[in-house]
Amino acid sequence: MQKGKIGVTTENIFPIIKKFLYSDHEIFLRELISNAVDATQKLKTLCSTGEFKSDPGDLTIRVAVDKKKKTITVSDSGIGMTSEELDKYLNQIAFSSANDFLEKYKDQANSIIGHFGLGFYSSFMVSDKVEVITKSYIDNAKSVKWTCDGSPEFTIEEAEREKRGTDVILYIDKESKEFLEEERIEGILRKYCKFLPVEIAFGKEKEWKDGKYVDTGKDRIINNTKPAWTRKPSELKDEDYVSFYHELYPAGDEPLFNIHLNVDYPFKLTGILYFPRIKNNLEIQKNRIQLYCNQVFVTDSVEGIVPEFMTLLHGVIDSPDIPLNVSRSYLQSDSNVKKISAHITKKVADRLAEIFKKSRDDFEKKWDDLRLFIEYGMITDEKFYEKASKFALVKNTENKYFTYEEYEKLIKENQTDKHNTLVYLYATDREEQYAYIEKAKAKGYDVLLLDGQLDIHLVNFLETKFQQSRFVRVDSDVIERLIQKGEEKTSKLSAEQLDDIKSLFRSQVREGENFVIVQEPLDESDAPVIITRSEYMRRMKDMSQLGGGFTFYRDLPDSYSLVINSNHKLVEKLSEKMNKELESFLKENSAETGKLKEEADFLEKEHKGKKDDEISQAEKDDLKKLRDDIDKKKKEREEEISKFGKDEKLVRQLIDLALLSNNMLKGEDLSTFVKRSIELL
Ligand code: ADP
Repeated sequence: MQKGKIGVTTENIFPIIKKFLYSDHEIFLRELISNAVDATQKLKTLCSTGEFKSDPGDLTIRVAVDKKKKTITVSDSGIGMTSEELDKYLNQIAFSSANDFLEKYKDQANSIIGHFGLGFYSSFMVSDKVEVITKSYIDNAKSVKWTCDGSPEFTIEEAEREKRGTDVILYIDKESKEFLEEERIEGILRKYCKFLPVEIAFGKEKEWKDGKYVDTGKDRIINNTKPAWTRKPSELKDEDYVSFYHELYPAGDEPLFNIHLNVDYPFKLTGILYFPRIKNNLEIQKNRIQLYCNQVFVTDSVEGIVPEFMTLLHGVIDSPDIPLNVSRSYLQSDSNVKKISAHITKKVADRLAEIFKKSRDDFEKKWDDLRLFIEYGMITDEKFYEKASKFALVKNTENKYFTYEEYEKLIKENQTDKHNTLVYLYATDREEQYAYIEKAKAKGYDVLLLDGQLDIHLVNFLETKFQQSRFVRVDSDVIERLIQKGEEKTSKLSAEQLDDIKSLFRSQVREGENFVIVQEPLDESDAPVIITRSEYMRRMKDMSQLGGGFTFYRDLPDSYSLVINSNHKLVEKLSEKMNKELESFLKENSAETGKLKEEADFLEKEHKGKKDDEISQAEKDDLKKLRDDIDKKKKEREEEISKFGKDEKLVRQLIDLALLSNNMLKGEDLSTFVKRSIELL
């Protein structure tokens, strides 16, 4: 028997291993099985080169749990180790590499949990004692047993092992009892080893016999050794891709389509990415892209390895060239990772372009499921935008699809305003904004339907990309002002009468209604009162709701404009009625105000061009008094109109009608409106 001390400087490395990898103990199994797979693959290579001449026999790797003995055993029929190799690999190299590793990453242990490199020694995270019984493939090799109980002391002695290969036996410690549960081990195997290239057996297949399940003699293999991504695209049919998708995500919906990645240079990468049906929901994806390293599962958090929008995709990426034993923030600056990321982005964009070119119809059908992904990509990734802006679609309110270029052509002539800005009209809700959409269409305009979760960001983004263009929602102003063409309509009423009308409507605006009252000489056929909502304020508020700054806007009240169509018959009628009833007051008020204004104008003219100290105090006081008097008259006028207006049912009726057509009349107000309507009829 050989005795010795493992070559480490740290007095006792095991407590450190335990502490460092605390949150991720389960990876010990992945590490042991990876070693077993390596040893098996090496043997296969020796067979194929002819260095190993006999029949390799069954190469299945077996995992067994013995609850009574409190052991987990991983057995392979790989190349095995001679006693010298044992000493070299386990005592010197493996241990010192584990030690180096810990030295190097002491400060960032948590971020490197999913690393490779601690290898064999991670078994001490869960064990009091580890035995390795092994027999090398070389002729006349003796079996040897290595034992280590968690102190730097180990022993190597002769052992009995009939066949070539290695058993690693872990004596599970008290704190790690969970790993003696079969379900727990099975869970870990399914997570990390589902697609390993060598068959892994855990227990036996069961069959139903005499009213209960009993083991058959057949090994239960838990992995698929030839997953779709390792095969050639030419060998695979559409169904194969779909069935592999379900293998990855048993509860997943049918994917839209896939991309088979296969890169050899300048880095190695294989994989299959699937486009899921994202619909209108940008919530955290439960089916995440899985990252593998030579078919060993590493992680399903690929942030930092692919651009953020790509994390919406599903599937598998397998690359030995992603340096996983470094922290995430370091990953992002790694040049290989950058190349991989750019490559995947390009492949995805190319694939989308290909589908677009091959069948526009098909692409349009898929658009609603794809748009969120594509829009997210365009907004966040310039390179992706360059490609995607050629095939990204917009849909109008008639469900017709256009590329950006096609749409610009369509509206260019009719929707360019007098400042030469191209105005894109859009609606976010076909039902709610129905009346406005119809108005715009009647003018010969086209209206886009932008009802997606990202559309508000997209609109902001496209305004920075499209030259001389702006987007406005159809209800953000009256149609004449949405796209100003230069032809101004005039009102039949005088400026004073128009002000009176505003006062009249103001008299019935309720508390809490944040209306700015404006008048607009619209068509007689237009509605008498229209409610609009400023594009700018609405957009800011919407953005603040989506998070990302703008909190200032979130807390502002909603503000709407109450636009009174001064050319409408009903408004004219109201104006006439008011003028008749208040005739003598209004006339007198006008005359008095007029006189005051004349005097004030005169004084102002006098003062024009003079310096402040050239005007006497008396004159200044006079002017101030005149202005106060004018204000007073104005107030009196407003009060009188308000007194009249308060009893005019038609005023509130017109406001309510405007609210109603905006779906803004609810509850008590709605039922008051209904009652009033019946009365007025
Ligand atoms: P790594 O696998 O990263 O090289 P490990 O600490 O896991 O590091 O293992 C150290 C070495 O021990 C391996 O490189 C291999 O040569 C040897 N080894 C470990 N497990 C086995 C096994 N099951 N069969 C044969 N050799 C093994």
